[in-house]
Amino acid sequence: MGCERLRAKAEEELRARFGGRVKRDEPLARHTSFRIGGPADFWLEIEQPEEIALVQDWARRFGLSCWLLGGGTNVLVSDLGVRGIVIRLGRSFAYSEWKPNGWSVRVRAGASLSLKKLVLQAVEQDLTGLEFAEGIPGTVGGGLLMNAGAFGGELADVVLGVDLVTPEGRQIRVPREDLRFGYRHFDLPRGTVVTAVEFVLSRASHEAVWQRYCQAKEKRERNQPRGLPNAGSIFKNPPGEYAGRLIEAVGLKGHRIGQAMFSPKHANFIVNLGGARAEDVRQLMREAQRRVADHFGVHLEPEVRLIGEWRE
Ligand SMILES: Cc1cc2nc3c(=O)[nH]c(=O)nc-3n(C[C@H](O)[C@H](O)[C@H](O)COP(=O)(O)OP(=O)(O)OC[C@H]3O[C@@H](n4cnc5c(N)ncnc54)[C@H](O)[C@@H]3O)c2cc1C
Repeated sequence: MGCERLRAKAEEELRARFGGRVKRDEPLARHTSFRIGGPADFWLEIEQPEEIALVQDWARRFGLSCWLLGGGTNVLVSDLGVRGIVIRLGRSFAYSEWKPNGWSVRVRAGASLSLKKLVLQAVEQDLTGLEFAEGIPGTVGGGLLMNAGAFGGELADVVLGVDLVTPEGRQIRVPREDLRFGYRHFDLPRGTVVTAVEFVLSRASHEAVWQRYCQAKEKRERNQPRGLPNAGSIFKNPPGEYAGRLIEAVGLKGHRIGQAMFSPKHANFIVNLGGARAEDVRQLMREAQRRVADHFGVHLEPEVRLIGEWRE
């Protein structure tokens, strides 16, 4: 079967199952905090765990890639976009269930719930454990995948277990002792989707919880650029160092290619001045990696995930 016919057959099958929910050539710039990214051939919001396996099986049979997007706040999508399908967990995964248990409370949060919303819900109940995450955009699922953290805290500190859909379509719950986290890293086999995360939080005084929350908010407002689209820290901090300090030291703070610029406020952020291309951002990243390696012998590892089809 020719390429076009195969694609038409793939679309026909997908539409037979998901109807008008399937979108063609969806611009991913709409779904990323960078406001950058070409189109996805197919786009679908998933509303049931069973649908994940159906889509993955469909993609496998037609030799297409299947890629999962959370809040799109830690990704750089290529200008050429994504060949295949991009899925996102829909509203039915945006819930939180709270179970008091003496001095602690367990909360099971759906993977598409906004992390900011979860943090606020916890703080409003005088529960401690998530205040550090005030202001981290994105979803609970994406946050877990990145082991999102700030100001000395990270999600791994309060995770009790996760609900997953495996690449074979099995729905399983994995307890904390079987989960492996690292710095901005969570070990998850390719093709596995997080559908919910269980956290454990502790009761604390109203004043203590709000103080920690407000401190995190103030620090963030002081140090991070606001108002221009970005994807948070571009590089991970190398051991014992700050990526921002190294980028500044090699003269790249405020440096610009096209409409992408290393933020004059925090050099580990690249901001989109309006209409930046993914390629501009990638060139800036490469320049920083080259200069920092030359001057300091340090490799800067990207924290943002590069997605889609790239020219080379
Ligand atoms: C202004 C700003 C400030 C930020 N500050 C911080 C900060 O302080 N600390 C920090 O750690 N990060 C920060 N970030 C980065 C980003 O917000 C976090 O990494 C966030 O947790 C990513 O979540 P997301 O839902 O947007 O994931 P996405 O960017 O959509 O995806 C990230 C990765 O997770 C995968 N993924 C998403 N959902 C799932 C799921 N349900 N199951 C399996 N895989 C999944 C994706 O495939 C992708 O590989 C910041 C970003 C911005 C824009």
